[in-house]
Amino acid sequence: MGSITLSNVSKSFGEAKVIPSIDLEIRDGEFVVFVGPSGCGKSTLLRLIAGLEDVSGGRILIDGQDVTQKAPAQRGLAMVFQSYALYPHMSVRNNIAFPLKMAKVDKAVIDKKVSDAAGILNLTDYLERRPSQLSGGQRQRVAIGRAIVREPSAFLFDEPLSNLDAALRGTMRLEISELHNQLKTTMIYVTHDQVEAMTMADKIVVLNRGNIEQVGSPLELYSKPRNLFVAGFIGSPR
Ligand code: ADP
Ligand code: MG
Repeated sequence: MGSITLSNVSKSFGEAKVIPSIDLEIRDGEFVVFVGPSGCGKSTLLRLIAGLEDVSGGRILIDGQDVTQKAPAQRGLAMVFQSYALYPHMSVRNNIAFPLKMAKVDKAVIDKKVSDAAGILNLTDYLERRPSQLSGGQRQRVAIGRAIVREPSAFLFDEPLSNLDAALRGTMRLEISELHNQLKTTMIYVTHDQVEAMTMADKIVVLNRGNIEQVGSPLELYSKPRNLFVAGFIGSPR
């Protein structure tokens, strides 16, 4: 399960109205990409969904339940941070197990979930290594593993590949798409990269100054951009 509904969601920081009002439906299992220029409010919107920021107005529903007032840990979502958010002094195994240990899950259950996640992510042979002994792509997979073991109803990614080189970004793009095919869990993926949006998304949400300019499939946005902003950002050149 992992449907997410935003209803009239707004966010101000002091006087600055960063998100005036957003309505959005995300269906269970969708891969949704938030795309738009730097500063348009992508991260803020993701953090509102995660509960890392409080909304200024409006409501957020997950699987029909109003979570607007709920703490991040109670929302059943997993935020995947960039790979540098790993604990350098812990093994891969302990990095992945960390959220389960914090939740005081039984050791046998932890071991099973960590080995399942490692299997999915091709990390089985690397569980006893430290992050510094891994490649950039492997480190990113550990960060994803830490999210998988929590069995979230949705994964939230905020520009997870932005500090990787171009070749590795391409590989990781495919890996994350493959992960989505395998898990079929809702994913929201924030990027300012049009190629990532076009190649990964079931549904693209184009943001500009905290407003949604258009929502649609990559093909819809490419062939029928609603305005010049969308066309310039994603659509066919005209
Ligand atoms: P994006 O992720 O699209 O680059 P952000 O969501 O990070 O954009 O930021 C949107 C706007 O909100 C920016 O103008 C940014 O300066 C502002 N902003 C974000 N977080 C805060 C904060 N904690 N306090 C004040 N302003 C913020
Ligand atoms: Mg951002």
